[in-house]
Amino acid sequence: MLFSVVHTAHDAIVLLDHNGCVGFWNKAAESMFGYRAEEILGRAFAPPLLPAVHRAAYAQYLACAQSPGDQHEPETQTLVLEAIHNDGTPFPIECSLAPVRLEGRWSAIAIFRDATERRRTEADLRKLSRAVEQSPVSVVITNVDGAIEYVNPKFLELTGYTAKEVIGQTPSILKSGLTSDATYTDLWKTIISGREWRGEFRNRKKNGELFWEYASISPITGFDGAISHFLAVKEDITVRKLYEEQLLHQAHFDQLTELPNRLLALDRLSQALHRAHRNNHFVALMFVDLDNFKTVNDTLGHAAGDSLLVSAALRLRGCVRSTDTVARLGGDEFLIILVDLSSTAGCEVVNHKILDVFSQPFQLEGHELVVTASVGVAVYPSDGEDPHVLLRNADAALYRAKEQGRHTYRFFTVEMNLRALERLNLESQLRYAQEREEFTVHFQPIIDLRLNAIVGAEALLRWNNAQLGSVPPDRFIPIAEDTGLIVPMGEWVLRRACQQLADWRAMFGNSLCVSVNVSPRQFRETGFTQTVARILNETGIRAKFLELEVTERLLLDDSPQTTETLRELIRMGVNFAIDDFGTGHSALSYLKRFTFHALKIDRSFLHDATTNSGAAALATAIIAMAHSLGLKVIGEGAETKSQVEFLYAEGCDMAQGYYLSQPLPSDHFAEFLSGYTCQSYAGA
Ligand code: C2E
Ligand code: MG
Ligand code: MG
Repeated sequence: MLFSVVHTAHDAIVLLDHNGCVGFWNKAAESMFGYRAEEILGRAFAPPLLPAVHRAAYAQYLACAQSPGDQHEPETQTLVLEAIHNDGTPFPIECSLAPVRLEGRWSAIAIFRDATERRRTEADLRKLSRAVEQSPVSVVITNVDGAIEYVNPKFLELTGYTAKEVIGQTPSILKSGLTSDATYTDLWKTIISGREWRGEFRNRKKNGELFWEYASISPITGFDGAISHFLAVKEDITVRKLYEEQLLHQAHFDQLTELPNRLLALDRLSQALHRAHRNNHFVALMFVDLDNFKTVNDTLGHAAGDSLLVSAALRLRGCVRSTDTVARLGGDEFLIILVDLSSTAGCEVVNHKILDVFSQPFQLEGHELVVTASVGVAVYPSDGEDPHVLLRNADAALYRAKEQGRHTYRFFTVEMNLRALERLNLESQLRYAQEREEFTVHFQPIIDLRLNAIVGAEALLRWNNAQLGSVPPDRFIPIAEDTGLIVPMGEWVLRRACQQLADWRAMFGNSLCVSVNVSPRQFRETGFTQTVARILNETGIRAKFLELEVTERLLLDDSPQTTETLRELIRMGVNFAIDDFGTGHSALSYLKRFTFHALKIDRSFLHDATTNSGAAALATAIIAMAHSLGLKVIGEGAETKSQVEFLYAEGCDMAQGYYLSQPLPSDHFAEFLSGYTCQSYAGA
């Protein structure tokens, strides 16, 4: 029975007699070493089975086992050796030798165990622990109670603690108070239930510095399946977090002014509306737009424009409470959200503050400049309950504020909404007007008062739309300017006017002039000079028969580009008339800078002049002043005989108005023309 146990054992069991020769060799020994019992019995174990280097150690070991000291109990000894299989392969073995007394002599029972597996495991463990020691991430092992048992060097390097300071402590020594309690609760619930937890901590180093860690924490279970330890592997993600924060900031804030951008503003608006709904409060939405920002940008350059926006942002911030939002929507458009208002009175106060701070001049690149602001207000819930409706209504109110003279504020009214819708409709119709050939040009005669002759015609654009009927220019020209549609439209009018003039010249052989209105937007478009030159060339009209009407608005912007275009066109021989004179800023200085041909006194002037002696004196002064500068004067909007007489008496050169003739379609104009003798005032 014992025999069969020995033979079925997994370990090789070998009896070595006092000479070191094999006396017994079990089955496991046969397969471990590759020798059958009959091949090895009676032979020395060492020479064929151990490499030469191990033989001495083995012999000494065997000697020890075989001659235990008499005073001691015989001892079992263990030795790790390298053995050689019969096929020549070396392999590690663990050898235990137990002394036995056989026939009065000490022999030894040797038990050999193949140590290949164990060697490998040990090597693996060594590799593993080296990896942990050298790991670029922190590793912490705690017991089930959370007491730290191991930390790797990276942990120490990162946190600044020594191993002595942390062993036995819990990882809470790193707590900064900035990680939510919910995170810790979730962490413990997860790992106690045996699952892995991953998450972020905002922790504190020994020196007080904060850092971000991404941790994965998992329970380690023993053989019995119970949790014995927790293993935390943590990566320092501070740099990534900072980068993320930066990105987030960029996505939500305007880089120039540091104000929230449209995205964040809309988010704050929805939150404010939710709160207001719960608390029965008002929210005011204010669109703020700088008046003439474009002029500053165009004349003083983008750097000045930018610094204006930054100062404007600061001023706006100063007008509201810290809980309110001031955002930049883009360009010179700002949005203010006044939250938690118990009445709309607070909103009125802010409006006044804004107008007030914007009446103070800005210091821009050595210039002192007043740039005013217009404000449009919509209030929740009366003007809308939805962010988009409120925004649209505040925009409509702003538009109205701009329209009504700027540097003012307007609260939204339902009527504005209708106007905004109407405008939108007009705009969409206008986009197709040109390709649908809905435009025509009418001509209004300009009469020389001394000669009583038609000397020119002002080309006036007419728009007849199937849906809207005939739309007056005062309604569609501003939209065309805003949208840029004026550029192709204006070019079309110019060509049409010149073609018409060429036809009349061929028909009547006269030296009539044609006047064409040019909007600032059109004038500033690059290549405008070339467009004019091309059209003159195409139609065969000489430059001096063309008069371009520009307003004071254009001349106030004394940007190098505007000046250059004016100079070039004047050099080409094109005439210029200042349109609507007296309605704008009437800054006379620019009149001296260029050789303009004529000045058109606005019809409102003429209207007042015949009823009000002050206005009459002013008109007289303007005419005298214009003459002293060598300019011709054209009186616009002469509706009555007495107005024409007034112009004549005051020495005005030319007149234009319903009394003399309405603007006429081209064929009617031709009829009108044939009834007159024409005389040029262009000196041809
Ligand atoms: P504007 O250049 O001052 O043109 C004169 C305006 O006065 C014309 O209005 C004309 O019909 C009107 N008018 C002429 N005589 C009288 C009168 O006796 N009494 C009154 N109450 N009005 C008179 P219209 O055609 O409605 O044009 C309005 C404005 O639209 C023009 O003012 C001009 O600024 C602009 N506009 C017209 N056509 C064009 C165009 O082709 N291009 C550009 N950029 N603007 C244009
Ligand atoms: Mg005009
Ligand atoms: Mg005019």
